Amino acid sequence: MPPLRKEATLTPQLALALADSIERARPPGPVRIVVLGGGFAGVYTAKYLTDMLGSRTDVVVELLSEENYFVFQPLLPEVAAGGIAPTHVVNPIREIVPRARFRHCKVRNVDVGKGRVLVSQGEGLELVSVPYDHLVFCLGKVSNFSAMPGVEEHALAMKDLGDAFRLRNHVIRCLELADIEADPEKKRALLTFVVAGGGFSGVETIGELCELVQRSLKYFPTVRREDIVFQLVHSQDVILPEMPRELGLAARRILEKRGIEMVLSARVKAASPEHVYLADGRKIATRTFVCTVGNAPNPIAKHAMQSGGLTEAQVDGRAIGVFSTDEFLQCAGRPGYWAVGDCAGVPSPTGKGLCPPTAQFAIRQARSCAKNILATIDKRPLSPFKFKALGMLASLGQRSAVAEMLGFKLTGFIAWFAWRSVYLSKLPGFVRRLRVALDWTLDLFFPRDITQLQVFRADRLRVNHYEPGELVIRQGQIGRELFLIVKGEVEVVDSLGVVIATLGARDVFGERALLEDTPRTASVRAKGPVDVLVMSRGDFRSMVAQLPPMEEYFQKLLEERLPGDAARAMMDRSPGVKQSASPPGN
Ligand SMILES: Cc1cc2nc3c(=O)[nH]c(=O)nc-3n(C[C@H](O)[C@H](O)[C@H](O)COP(=O)(O)OP(=O)(O)OC[C@H]3O[C@@H](n4cnc5c(N)ncnc54)[C@H](O)[C@@H]3O)c2cc1C
Repeated sequence: MPPLRKEATLTPQLALALADSIERARPPGPVRIVVLGGGFAGVYTAKYLTDMLGSRTDVVVELLSEENYFVFQPLLPEVAAGGIAPTHVVNPIREIVPRARFRHCKVRNVDVGKGRVLVSQGEGLELVSVPYDHLVFCLGKVSNFSAMPGVEEHALAMKDLGDAFRLRNHVIRCLELADIEADPEKKRALLTFVVAGGGFSGVETIGELCELVQRSLKYFPTVRREDIVFQLVHSQDVILPEMPRELGLAARRILEKRGIEMVLSARVKAASPEHVYLADGRKIATRTFVCTVGNAPNPIAKHAMQSGGLTEAQVDGRAIGVFSTDEFLQCAGRPGYWAVGDCAGVPSPTGKGLCPPTAQFAIRQARSCAKNILATIDKRPLSPFKFKALGMLASLGQRSAVAEMLGFKLTGFIAWFAWRSVYLSKLPGFVRRLRVALDWTLDLFFPRDITQLQVFRADRLRVNHYEPGELVIRQGQIGRELFLIVKGEVEVVDSLGVVIATLGARDVFGERALLEDTPRTASVRAKGPVDVLVMSRGDFRSMVAQLPPMEEYFQKLLEERLPGDAARAMMDRSPGVKQSASPPGN
């Protein structure tokens, strides 16, 4: 197993300090172009560079990425909805750019002063220094939900293959649970699907999920169409703000006709395991919350701007966390440094503002950047980035879409057909294209796959967030978890609704039902906003059985909370605690 702790705590600053001790002599030889990131921007920059270089050996191209595959993100919502198999939207990077050197690693820091990138790689996450003559930043952006308490813990994202795979399994699980749920309130929450963000990824995700759920209903006899709720929360008054207003309005009409509710001019404030809270005070009971908002600068890029003197782009006088580049894709005032894609603030060829953060622009910028790097090496004049967007398309599921292509505005089936044709042609690799075409053809005639794959351990240690008044534990439930308060306070409430105790930070609760294997004897309610660390029964029992101080701690806790010899008797009786550890996950 790799030493994960080391990976998680290595900050860019610490990486830099450690690297000074391992620095080796810089190798002489060819000009080294290092590309950071394996998304649209990085893969296409490396591809164009190696294609343009041909058989030249005086320049080498190295691509660094933390995944060894490239994800075709525009098709992720279809993967989440089971329309395309997950592996059909990814390509091995080595296959797309066979003539670039590929390094599977995590970038830790860019040492602009010494012209080296510090990465951790290999089984032991060894820190290695990679020198460069030209560096291309293609690190994209990252999700950051820290401004919305509980969203990090309870929302599903839609950014990579794992997110799409998780979402599909989660939705099928909700349908399974709803089918056997007798309580109408809980059933409704299981059948309420909330997506935050009315941009491309949010709109496409809700459209596709709606199709998955509606086409799967025939297998869930107790779930009625009228029980299902889809809500799209968006901060503006029109969805798809990147598109012409009339197409945003058309998309809204199409989605509303299908029963998707628009919650417009609204912002998400917080989330808990069972609710989404809006800034205007509304509260939505749901078990499915997909958050497509909350993009933040990549921390490596941000650090390079702050410590390496690379300029950050600004909009209306506000820094926006991406590299400011000139029209040649070169970082402002820093020869040898380039930026492409979502992490770059490239002046729009229209003369107004910056290029939008889309795959279409990332690919075109990649070509221009590759050309200009080679022109710099060969001492030729550079050419400015020129590109007129061919159009914009957004799929809405159920064979409809909205599109603007070559000045024409299309909606419905024609737009959907155009969407599929365009994206199929853009997918890299003939075999992947064939597989996706086959998936789409089969999807026309057969139902969606409703297999729920349980490949993730659901009972890992995690932090849950609750808003005031929410129940953390319900009286009568069988105890499956132990709770430790990280922040905030909870109230223990008996069956008559009387508060019998208040617990605060570092207090533990829920141990009794775990040890006895009995239903909870009281409810526990959040007094204010509260974060609790949740530990599964298997992990709790292993910990108590293997660590004598822990056993003593819980013994004492029970003695405080229970009368007479009951605490000792409970510890002795508890299966797996005294005798042997039960395997994790039991
Ligand atoms: C669901 C969804 C649907 C979309 N639909 C469309 C669409 O229809 N049309 C369109 O034009 N655009 C669409 N987009 C936007 C488009 O996908 C992005 O603009 C594009 O992916 C940006 O590419 P990029 O290479 O700049 O960044 P990314 O794709 O984010 O790539 C960044 C790369 O850097 C790597 N990386 C980051 N940090 C490190 C590190 N420390 N060490 C090593 N590697 C690192 C990442 O692993 C990744 O490979 C969609 C996006 C999403 C999420």
